[in-house]
Order: sequence, then C-alpha cells, then structure tokens
Amino acid sequence: MPELPEVEVVRRELGSLRGATVVRVVSNDDRIFVRQDGTDLGTDLAGRVIRDVGRRGKWLRFTLDKGFVFSHLGMTGDWTLRAPGDDPLAFERLRMDVRRRRAIMSARYTDPRRFGRFIVASEDIDAWRALGPDPWLDGIDEPRLLVELGKRKRPIKAVLLDQSLLAGVGNIIAIEALWRARIDPRTPAAAMNGRDVRAIARGLRLVIERTIRYDEAMIEGRRARPPFRIYGRAGAPCARCGDTVRQMVIAGRGTVFCPRCQGRHAPAGG
Ligand SMILES: [Zn+2]
Repeated sequence: MPELPEVEVVRRELGSLRGATVVRVVSNDDRIFVRQDGTDLGTDLAGRVIRDVGRRGKWLRFTLDKGFVFSHLGMTGDWTLRAPGDDPLAFERLRMDVRRRRAIMSARYTDPRRFGRFIVASEDIDAWRALGPDPWLDGIDEPRLLVELGKRKRPIKAVLLDQSLLAGVGNIIAIEALWRARIDPRTPAAAMNGRDVRAIARGLRLVIERTIRYDEAMIEGRRARPPFRIYGRAGAPCARCGDTVRQMVIAGRGTVFCPRCQGRHAPAGG
C-alpha cells in the first residue's frame, strides 16, 4: 500500500504536468472517478490549466485554474506518464491527456484493486482538510506531538497511523520508526515522554528520507540499499540485536517488532 514516500515520488513525476492544459479526462470507472456534489467544473475538465501538483500525506492535489482534482492511490494505485497514442496499461482506470505548448502527455492511472479515488471538486474536500501536518513537507512539531500523544491511550503503533496527527504515516513507516526509536509498539501513546517523541520523530524522518531515495533509485534503475530494517522480517534475526523478530496484530494491523531491543515502556500484561 503506498505510504508517504511512494506518493511523494509519484508527485515529483507528475510535477512535469505543471502549467499544462487538460485536453480530456477519460474513465469508465465511476468508483474511482468521482465528481463531488455541487461542483461546477463543466463536463470533462477540458481547458483547465494545472497550476500545481501538491501532496499532503497520501493525497495528491492538482490545483487547477478553477477547482481541484484530488487523487488517492488506495491500496494499489499508481500514475504513469505516457504518450497519448500508447496502448492502455494493464488495470488502467483513467487517463488524463494534457497539452503543454505542442507536446501532449497522457497521465495514466492504474489500480488493480480499485480502492483509489480521482475526485473533481470546486474546493478542498473534507478528507484533505482533516489531514494533520505532513512530516516530510511541514516537519514534525515535537512539542505538539507530545501533547497530542498525551491525549491518546491506544497503542503508540496504532496512534501513529492517525492521519489527523501526522499525514502519510502508514503501517510500514510506523513499524520502522518504532524499531529505530527502540519503543515497544504496544505501549499506550500517553506514556510517551519528550525523549521518546524525539526518537520517534528522528525515526520517521530517517525512514521517509531513505524510502524516497530508494524508490527514486528503483525508478531510475540504480542500485540502492533497501530502506527497511525490520518490516517483512518476522521470525528472522533482528538486524540490531540478533533476537527473533516477532509478529502480532495491533488494532487490526500486522506489526513486527523486536521484543529485546524495543524494550522501552513494555506494557503491563502485554
Ligand atoms: Zn532487536
């Protein structure tokens, strides 16, 4: 499932659409292509100019000269730039052809499982407004994070996935950041102190930065060191201490951690 780094890499690629004019949007999938009620943006966006391609958390936002398009990649969504005459891609659900000067580009949206969304709206949608700060674009306000965690009793691992707290943190980033911070993922969020918050913030920044770098290297066909140290290693030795990595479910999500070196705040009865 795409998390902040994957969506950031897509945003950078789509940045080449900035300044282009929409020629047409074609989709036969009305689960993905949503026209927000009350929007008055004509029939097919033709003629609208793309002023900017932004991101907050896992959402992309195309700012048009009039109105917006919000794109969420769901579980399996992706954007690819092609020439307009190219054949449809496998699982292509929508295409947006744009013109810049004489060149026409075709942005193809693919999504095998169809949980993604392409929402045309005349103003910011509620899902976008509800997002908290983006840890990559806005930085992490550690004093605010400490206060917010103090209000929440659920396990820190589950709370880090709350998009109103930090937008874009997903299951993998949370697992990796807590491993780097040496914090037991079952610990109630309210037990976090200033030192923990600093360690979590450092872990988040590091894993996001390395994942973006890795994803870009993969696209460009360069070799790079995989960014994940514990994700996907249940039952294998911990990369730091050698103890066996354990797997459990926390708030419905599969979670891996090392019981030996993630010993901060082991929960009562855990
Ligand atoms: Zn360990």
